[in-house]
Amino acid sequence: MNPFHTLVNNQRTFFKSEQTLPYAFRKEQLKKLRDMLKTYEKDIYQALNDDLNKSKNETLTTELGFLYSEIDVTIKHLKEWMKAEKVDTPITHKGSKSFVLAEPYGVTITIAPWNYPLQLAIAPVIGALAAGNTVIIKPSEFTMATSSLLAHMIGSTFDANYVAVVEGAEETSQQLLELKFDYIFFTGSTNVGKIIMKQASEHLTPVTLELGGKSPAIVDKDANIDLAAKRIVWGKFTNAGQTCVAPDFLFVHEKVKQKVIKAMKKHIKSFYGKDPVQNKNYGRIVNTDHFDRLKYLLAESNIVYGGGMNRELCSIEPTIIDDATFEDPIMEEEIFGPLLPVLTFQNLEEAIAVLKGKEKPLSLYFFGENAESQQKVLGRLSFGGGCINDTLYHLANPNLPFGGVGTSGMGSYHGKDSFDTFSHKKSILKQTTKFDIPLRYPGGKIAHNIT
Ligand code: NAD
Repeated sequence: MNPFHTLVNNQRTFFKSEQTLPYAFRKEQLKKLRDMLKTYEKDIYQALNDDLNKSKNETLTTELGFLYSEIDVTIKHLKEWMKAEKVDTPITHKGSKSFVLAEPYGVTITIAPWNYPLQLAIAPVIGALAAGNTVIIKPSEFTMATSSLLAHMIGSTFDANYVAVVEGAEETSQQLLELKFDYIFFTGSTNVGKIIMKQASEHLTPVTLELGGKSPAIVDKDANIDLAAKRIVWGKFTNAGQTCVAPDFLFVHEKVKQKVIKAMKKHIKSFYGKDPVQNKNYGRIVNTDHFDRLKYLLAESNIVYGGGMNRELCSIEPTIIDDATFEDPIMEEEIFGPLLPVLTFQNLEEAIAVLKGKEKPLSLYFFGENAESQQKVLGRLSFGGGCINDTLYHLANPNLPFGGVGTSGMGSYHGKDSFDTFSHKKSILKQTTKFDIPLRYPGGKIAHNIT
């Protein structure tokens, strides 16, 4: 028998008991989740430092702070989100009213990756609980300290029949997915996303897939070069480049390339010092497999900054690679590490044409002052989301839905979108019984005339 059969069954029984339906219950659970994070803050800093050498500041801004803000926004608006949403009713339906009810799906699962192992395991849970579901969380096996802390925190805060953590790798994930869930929320690679979707089809379970891709940072010739360089360096090398929305490569107007590279070198030095590998505030590569993969991508490339590495520490310096081409191995797949290839274009039309030929990325960043050029990029290229003159920041606005398109994913979440994602929208027409218009019935006037 499947080892998780009982757990899923118990969650289904709990869901059917209707305890998750009232507003008061949901609000209480979100508060519990917030208190849990507060209680375990110290352990969280330690676990993320053990797993990825994340500094306290980085953990606060990119993991914990993000979750606090999502929970607060959700608690603040939950009552309003749960209300029936009235919609117009056509005159042909005289006497009736129409509205949409958000109802929970039921038993849900959140499968998380390793790069933001706390944030990406908990953020979907906020939406799932707000919408009245039960949840099983499957954290990544690559970030063991965070995974076991998650199991401990959740286990000591929630009834497992309501929220549970199942630790394990691919096989565990597969065993879980053999069972019927009512919603699957997956964050991870595009390849595994395809497997998840196939498995979901067995039970016709709806999915959100938060995947990756090669997100470009385009710098046009009229950009504010120094600020662009600073924000690209920050977005690329935070968490040692292991960020799904990190700029994967720099696509820069040839006239300003040298200036951008010079400014990026200056900012890397100022952020991470002369020896980033030894810097306690600089992230480390998750494991030696990924370290070796990244090392291979660097072979025979024109390194103009960085390139130093230490396998024992699993650390690679912020590295800039000049004269890269779209045919290089480094441009075949998402880099997911601190290597920034630089490619050039001669005019924006050419850049747009080239990017149109690629898979739709999770993010796109455009740096340039000209409003028409900004419009061109936004209107003609398809991508999950992004920024004009910045990187990553769109992700931290709870009013912006976050998600990919094409191979970078489907569906979205954050803020109200998380609540919506985990809710089925039930459409209701409430009819009057005070009168009955005969037109629709056989023999009714219009029906008669039509024939
Ligand atoms: P991954 O796809 O290898 O693993 C993600 C999760 O799926 C893990 O929990 C893993 O145990 C599980 N898994 C692995 N193989 C599986 C299988 N065959 N069947 C079922 N489950 C399986 O991804 P990763 O290496 O942990 O994360 C890196 C990827 O995630 C990158 O591509 C990155 O862009 C993407 N990502 C996307 C977002 C986003 O929000 N869109 C956020 C972070 C990371």
